[in-house]
Amino acid sequence: MAKKVTGYCKKCKRDIELDDCREVAAERNKKLFSGTCPECGTKIMLEVDKIKSRNY
Ligand SMILES: [Zn+2]
Repeated sequence: MAKKVTGYCKKCKRDIELDDCREVAAERNKKLFSGTCPECGTKIMLEVDKIKSRNY
């Protein structure tokens, strides 16, 4: 199951549920989510830490 991650699309200027979300490794053991805006197709990268803090 794909995770449902909401991110801010700069093009649409609002938070949106991302398509094609996957975790990608970044520098310093950081993890990022990479997703695509379903409305305009813009690629959106999110820090996993920020997603977690938003959910709590
Ligand atoms: Zn968008």
